[in-house]
Amino acid sequence: NVSAPIKTHSVDVKLSNLLKIFPTHDGSEDFYAVNEIELDIKAGELVTLLGPSGCGKTTTLRMLAGFELPTSGSIHIGADNVTNVPPNKRNVAMVFQSYALFPHLSVFENIAYGLKINNVPKGEVIDRTFKVISLMHLEEFKDRLPSQLSGGQQQRVALARAIVTEPRVLLFDEPLSNLDAKLREYMRDELRKIQQRLGITSLYVTHDQTEAMAISDKVVIMNHGKIQQADNPIDIYTRPNNHFVAGFMGKANFLHGVVKDVKDKKAIINILGQTISVSVNDKVKLSENGPVDCVTRPEFWELSEEGKFNGEITRVIYLGNHVEYEVALGDETITMMDFEHYKHGIKQEGERIKLHLKEECVSLLPPRKEY
Ligand code: ATP
Repeated sequence: NVSAPIKTHSVDVKLSNLLKIFPTHDGSEDFYAVNEIELDIKAGELVTLLGPSGCGKTTTLRMLAGFELPTSGSIHIGADNVTNVPPNKRNVAMVFQSYALFPHLSVFENIAYGLKINNVPKGEVIDRTFKVISLMHLEEFKDRLPSQLSGGQQQRVALARAIVTEPRVLLFDEPLSNLDAKLREYMRDELRKIQQRLGITSLYVTHDQTEAMAISDKVVIMNHGKIQQADNPIDIYTRPNNHFVAGFMGKANFLHGVVKDVKDKKAIINILGQTISVSVNDKVKLSENGPVDCVTRPEFWELSEEGKFNGEITRVIYLGNHVEYEVALGDETITMMDFEHYKHGIKQEGERIKLHLKEECVSLLPPRKEY
């Protein structure tokens, strides 16, 4: 009966005060790969770890898998403290960038493997393997060897092999990095649909911001082993905690401003010789005549004859659905995006323009120390 649902166990995951120090052997200081992080993943959620190379994403994932033991802190899956439980006793499954399929086994055998080694009765192995093959639309490939499949198909087999064991947690280590851009987008959406349909609690590692935004309930931005912000994609993008988050998730122009007035949750701020009105947030304490940084995204700027900012175009990049301009505004240079180039044409380098800033979108941060 291939229509019967695949069983899932939706459980919470909790990483508490998790620390991983790698000792160095050359006498230099120990390396804090993961530095006391706290992270809750609610049952059925997909949480993504995002950050630059070396920030500790994979080490965090590997600790949850059990491949790496934490220096201190604890890991709970549901009510179980699994901090020192070996990987094969945690009931978690991992999908790797390299697929890690057995080359000499067919698609069917690859998927069935995890059930066989756990001594699941033969009839049940066949039944459950077919269910997953159907769920992942792999029927026509079931007798092929991995080498006879495309990268995308191999990754579908890898995901099938992970979910057939009905794990409590699914772990993804940059699973789409080996695929070309179009297929990556397609697989990303497929993977998210399956994960939501089965409701499996998932932790996903990537360094692709778009991928993180597209699939996650919660995005965790890491840098130097620490969590910079853990929030839903909208809050990460529109209400960044600091300059690192703002600059890592998309492009940001940081403009140095001076607070003129604060009233009714609005701040009047001087930037580039003009005043703007911006919503106050809880990320920064504002004091009159004090400095503040305004986060303006490229899409917050518009070419407009009525705009109050005068600038000069210093660089033009045509990108089909929009044009990216670098614009000198006084002493500052910003990047902006124009999605209406089909209406008013493409500007040239050296052209003088007027810009309107969507002030309601601007968010505020404490000034960066180097100012
Ligand atoms: P990437 O995106 O490049 O995979 P990452 O964020 O996943 O990076 P990690 O693999 O978690 O980073 O590594 C974090 C840091 O810990 C790196 O600087 C790495 O060199 C270091 N590290 C990882 N494993 C070990 C190890 N076994 N011994 C010593 N240092 C290690």
